Amino acid sequence: MGEDQKDKLLLAIKEEVIECRGCQLYKTRNLPVIGQGDHRAKIMLIGEAPGANEDKTGVPFCGESGRVLNLLLSSIGLKRENVYIANILKCRPPSNREPASEEVEACVAYLLRQISIIEPKIIASLGNHSTHFILKHFGVPESNLGISKLRGKKFVAQDPLTQKHYTIIPLYHPAVAVYNGRLLDSLKNDFKIIEEQLKDE
Ligand code: URA
Repeated sequence: MGEDQKDKLLLAIKEEVIECRGCQLYKTRNLPVIGQGDHRAKIMLIGEAPGANEDKTGVPFCGESGRVLNLLLSSIGLKRENVYIANILKCRPPSNREPASEEVEACVAYLLRQISIIEPKIIASLGNHSTHFILKHFGVPESNLGISKLRGKKFVAQDPLTQKHYTIIPLYHPAVAVYNGRLLDSLKNDFKIIEEQLKDE
């Protein structure tokens, strides 16, 4: 797909999300958090849902978890501008509660369209919920395992909607390392798998 076409299709998603009434979250959110980064990125990072800071700014991972994410990216020589960052949900669940299944159902078509337009080589799912959803959607049998069993592994899977192949790398959510330096080291280690995989792409 041409670059202009990507920009156009992603802009159309943005406009749809701004008007979206697919679940109740539009009533309580401030700004939707649609996604940010390079439309031609080889890596897409997928978190769970916007938190309070993201809801205020419309920018994914701009709070404490974002600070950790930036550190992790720079540990493998990348900047936010080199990747594309999005979430399963575009709108913040009140009080940061877990996304409800009907909210996920109403919202994920946007994310799946973003994936098929950007066509990254690597999808890194951040945390349990995002990993569970992504692995399930891509038909990976291990989708029911918890993140501590899945993190740092690689799965090559085909999108049933578009038949495109992606390498999926589940990782701990950066929030786990906000107050725990030891986990930051494990996360840095796991991020090296992205670096290694990029060399093969
Ligand atoms: N946590 C997420 O999963 N996504 C964000 O955008 C911010 C925090």
